[in-house]
Amino acid sequence: MTTHHEPATSVLETIGRTPLVEVDSVDGAEIYAKVETFNPGGSVKDRIGKRIIEQLLERGAIPPGGTIVEPTAGNTGIGMAIAAGRHDLEAIFVVPEGFSPEKERLMAALGGEIVHVPGEGGMDGAIERAHEIAEEEEDATVPQQFSTPLNVEAHYRTTGPEILEALDGEIGAIVVGVGSGGTLTGITRAVREHVPDVHVVAVEPAGSTFGTLLGKPRDEKPYKTEGIGTHDPEVTELLEPDELDDFVTITDREAHAEVQRLAAEEGHLVGSSSGAASVAARQVADEITAGDRDPPHDTVVTVFPDGSERYLSKNIYGAFDEWEGKA
Ligand code: PMP
Repeated sequence: MTTHHEPATSVLETIGRTPLVEVDSVDGAEIYAKVETFNPGGSVKDRIGKRIIEQLLERGAIPPGGTIVEPTAGNTGIGMAIAAGRHDLEAIFVVPEGFSPEKERLMAALGGEIVHVPGEGGMDGAIERAHEIAEEEEDATVPQQFSTPLNVEAHYRTTGPEILEALDGEIGAIVVGVGSGGTLTGITRAVREHVPDVHVVAVEPAGSTFGTLLGKPRDEKPYKTEGIGTHDPEVTELLEPDELDDFVTITDREAHAEVQRLAAEEGHLVGSSSGAASVAARQVADEITAGDRDPPHDTVVTVFPDGSERYLSKNIYGAFDEWEGKA
C-alpha cells in the first residue's frame, strides 16, 4: 500500500484506503459510509480480488500462468480480473443471466472470459458450473468467494482496520449488506477486537431469505437490488449467525429512492445495494436516537459497495417501475 504522495507501481497498489464519508446524519447519531467506488475497479470486491489471487499464488494453489474460474454477479469478477491480469493468469467468470451488462463488459475489457448460466439457478448454478469448467480446463482453480476464508480476511485486514483508524475505534454499530458475507464478517471481526459490544446488523433485500438463519420470518420473492441477498441461505460459508445482532430487510422501492436521494442531496453515485445499506443505517441511527438501541458509541458505519454508473442501462435513475422493468 502506497500513500497518495508517491507513484504506485501498479493499479493493484491503489486498491483500498477508500474515503469514509459522513452521510447526512440523523439527530443524535452519526452515520459514516465507506465509499468503495474509489477502488480502481469501482467496487469493494477489488479488495478480495487482490488478496485471494495473491494468496493463492503464494500458496501454490494457482500455478503460474494458470486459470481462475469464478462464479460472480460481476463485481468480484472485475476485482479478480484486475488481479489476474496483473499476475498473468487467465480468468473465466460464470455469471447468472440478468445481472447488469456493464459489469460483464468491464470483466471482458480486463481480459476475462464470460460464461452465462440461467438466472433461475442463481449463484448455486454458477458455482456448480464453475467447478465443472475447472475440471475440464488445465491448471484451473475456483477461488470461490462464497467459501474461501481469504474473502473475509481481505476485509479483516484492510476494510475493518481502515474504519477503526478513521474513527479512532469509536464505532457503535456496523450495518452492512450481505452477498457472500465477506465484507460484513471481516469488518465485524476486526472491529470486535476493539469494540466487543458493537452492534452488528446485516442487510438484505426484501424477498431474500438470509434472515431465516437467525430464525426471522422471510417471504421469498424476486428482488432487483443487485449484489446482496439470496434465495438459498446456505449459499455462503462466510456468515456466522452468532456474530450478528440483527438481520433487516429493505425493499427495492426504499433502496431505489435512497439511491436517487444520495445522488441528488449528497453527491454519491452509488448502486442499489448502497441504497439499501444507507436506509438500514439510517434506521439503526434512528433506533439509537430513540433509545431503542444502546451501542457503546453513537456512531453507525456502513459500506457503499459500488457505483451507479454500472447500472445506468438498468435505469437506476429512472422511475421505480422503469428500474423494475415494468414500465
Ligand atoms: N453490493 C454489491 C454491489 C456487491 O457486488 C456485493 C458482492 N456480491 C455486495 C454488495 C456484498 O458484498 P459481500 O459479498 O462481501 O457480502
